Amino acid sequence: MNMISDIKALHPQKRVADRMAMVTTSKIYEAIAKVADMQAQGIKVDSLTAGEPDFDTPAHVIDAAIKAMREGDTHYTAVRGTLAVREAVRQKFLRENGLSFSDDEVMVGNGSKQVISNALAVTLEPGDEVLLPVPYWAAYTGMVYAAGGVPAFVRPSGDRLTAQELRAAMGPRTRWFILNTPSNPSGLVYTKDELLALGEALRERPDVLILSDEIYEHLHYTPERPESLLKLCPDLAGRILVANGVSKAFAMTGWRLGFAAGPADIIEAMANLQAQTTLGPSSISQAATVAALNGPRESIDNMVTAYHRRRDLVMQIAKSHPGVKIPRPDGAFYAMLDLNEAFSGGTRFRKIAEPDMAFCEWLLATQHVAAVPGSVFGAPGWVRISFATDEKTIEQGLSRLLTAAVQS
Ligand code: PMP
Repeated sequence: MNMISDIKALHPQKRVADRMAMVTTSKIYEAIAKVADMQAQGIKVDSLTAGEPDFDTPAHVIDAAIKAMREGDTHYTAVRGTLAVREAVRQKFLRENGLSFSDDEVMVGNGSKQVISNALAVTLEPGDEVLLPVPYWAAYTGMVYAAGGVPAFVRPSGDRLTAQELRAAMGPRTRWFILNTPSNPSGLVYTKDELLALGEALRERPDVLILSDEIYEHLHYTPERPESLLKLCPDLAGRILVANGVSKAFAMTGWRLGFAAGPADIIEAMANLQAQTTLGPSSISQAATVAALNGPRESIDNMVTAYHRRRDLVMQIAKSHPGVKIPRPDGAFYAMLDLNEAFSGGTRFRKIAEPDMAFCEWLLATQHVAAVPGSVFGAPGWVRISFATDEKTIEQGLSRLLTAAVQS
């Protein structure tokens, strides 16, 4: 008797929990995998999909990791991270954001993705809602569903959420509001006044928690640096959890190190969950993060200069394709292209429900250009490009994409 097939026959749909029906593979990784397959077959693809810096981790960070390994720093650490990394995180917040946290208000995890996911998992009751402004980072929805919650969406009438829209969108079940600025996928950066106005609206709902995802804080092309909502609205301190990490600022995506700072009770619950699931992140990555956070800033400046030039290149290419609107990204390394007009004016994608999905598939197959459909971020008819790649790829890829969109 084969036990596994017997159980399967008895409970064909019971092997995976119902809530997982909404937790699917990321379309972004699917696209990246398809590009890799094509490249392995010798096809040259201009990929504008990358969600990570195309730079190397700074040498002094790598040296610190090697030193840690050689000196035996290769064991389990405290769940919330070593004292050294917690101290470096606290100093970073103080120095760069003007935010003061005590030791029991900070922790590190395997990427900011894990800390955000832990925060949702330890706070959501079944059916609780997490409010996301559209377009949103796709991973939030999967994390919310996996934690038993339900994402709720607020679609700004302009390109950014107003206090009035936020007020109207918060319902009786709203447990969290997630704010990501600078934003993936739009590159939008909220100004100080806009954040103050959102703070006003949030003040009216003391039961709502706020997740401020600041992973792209260093990548901005505005003269003033993005402000942290918590710095502007210190009275919301008991309700704001700040998430950040070294992935984007220090080109350290593979090191898997993120951190969170906020209310001690939530941090404690997140650490308890992490203690029973993954423990603290790699001891080597923690040592590298201490070097990154405490070290020189030149690598960040150099990367930002390069991204800034590429952002300008994107806008310059956009100008020669007037049929497509591209709101100027002021931060991160993404741009959203509004192809709605091109799709409705053309023949190929006009009658398709999610034209961006069909377009991106067709674009990769026929033009060998890869981009991510906006539907993934709640914005059908749009396409996201990443400019975390070299200028030649941006120039060739984006020009072909825009020409194809307008001619389709
Ligand atoms: N937040 C946003 C908005 C992101 O785009 C990403 C990475 N794509 C993350 C968080 C997670 O980064 P990590 O887990 O590498 O810290």
